[in-house]
Amino acid sequence: VLDLIARRIGRLESERVVLPETAGRVLAAQIRAEVSVPSFDRAAMDGYAVRGEETQGASPARPVPFRYVGATRPGRRCEIVVGPGEALEITTGSALPQGADSVVRVESTRKEGETVWVQEPFPPGRHVGRVGEDIETGTVVLEGNRRLRPQDLAVLRALGITSVDVIRRPKVTVIITGDELIAAGNPGRVFQIADTNSVMLEALITRDGGRPWVVGPIPDDRDRIRAEITEAANTSDVLLISGGSSAGPEDYAPGLIEELGKLVVHGVALRPAAPSGVGFLGQVPVVLLPGNPVSCLCAYDFFAGPIVRVQGGRAREWPYRTQVLPLASALPSSLGRTDYARVRIENGKLEPLSISGASILSSTTRADGFVVIPAQVDEYPAGALVTLWLYDLD
Ligand code: AMP
Ligand code: MG
Repeated sequence: VLDLIARRIGRLESERVVLPETAGRVLAAQIRAEVSVPSFDRAAMDGYAVRGEETQGASPARPVPFRYVGATRPGRRCEIVVGPGEALEITTGSALPQGADSVVRVESTRKEGETVWVQEPFPPGRHVGRVGEDIETGTVVLEGNRRLRPQDLAVLRALGITSVDVIRRPKVTVIITGDELIAAGNPGRVFQIADTNSVMLEALITRDGGRPWVVGPIPDDRDRIRAEITEAANTSDVLLISGGSSAGPEDYAPGLIEELGKLVVHGVALRPAAPSGVGFLGQVPVVLLPGNPVSCLCAYDFFAGPIVRVQGGRAREWPYRTQVLPLASALPSSLGRTDYARVRIENGKLEPLSISGASILSSTTRADGFVVIPAQVDEYPAGALVTLWLYDLD
């Protein structure tokens, strides 16, 4: 299934977005500097602009006198040309005046009337930020596919860029199905349950860079579900259907995908998400997620997450950090089946939480993360060093 996803899913096209809204977005293409930063030679210290070679040999005992000829400040054009033996007061960020090539630190001077005594040599170039010192015209400042950091936005702004092309965020429609489900805020009857999958899926989709759009909960009504699937296929980049993904009398999703498109996978050797499915409606990938909350989380992470991330230009891999730790007790599995086991860290060891029980939602909140027992492994014995995938991203 993962191979199929790797082969069939590509990143979406780009869209132009104004700079302040691009943090965290994926840059579509490389950015090359078309200007230099800074674009003028500037003072990097508060002090005096002078001809550096004239400060040669200066010391506190033998200070060199300069004639004070005025002052300049950042953001202004300086009309004064610094001539031989002259010093112009300057502050950090000011354009270096013509004639000067060095900035004497104010701490190394003494001013007496119109004379500035320089007590230390400041050779040409000292405390001067040259044109292009930060960024030279023509250099690649950011590579394509990069997730933009706050400071990246600053660099782009420094180059005079006001908007950039970023990968479009996939619109992910989630159809929540189930006769027994009640929407948020409704009191419900004793035989009804809260729809818990929608909030979880919305957060997962957002985490992965998608734009979630929840439909439902809607009842297990074939025509109603068909209508929502048809609508979603025309308006979404990805479709997720929660519930009714198995083979029960009210499990309509698999048959509908087969009818309206192609159901490529149905049933996966994965516990607790065996009744998962993957298909396509035209070009739109569809993932059938079991209704059981733990299965739903597991199926999302295995099959839906990679699709959302890849479409949005992110890495296919899980965003979870890992840690390798020994198991406090054995993690049973069975050959040919992959298991997704919630575990807790206790005294530096991994304690399995109920591995069965796809409906025990709180096992995912009590857990620090999960361990995947691959298909070719029959069980992980106590003491085995295994990889823990941490639910917390940072
Ligand atoms: P299903 O996948 O429709 O067979 O549902 C399997 C189990 O998950 C049943 O116990 C459902 O009540 C439960 N379930 C289905 N959808 C949801 C949901 N959105 N939120 C919470 N539990 C659900
Ligand atoms: Mg159901």
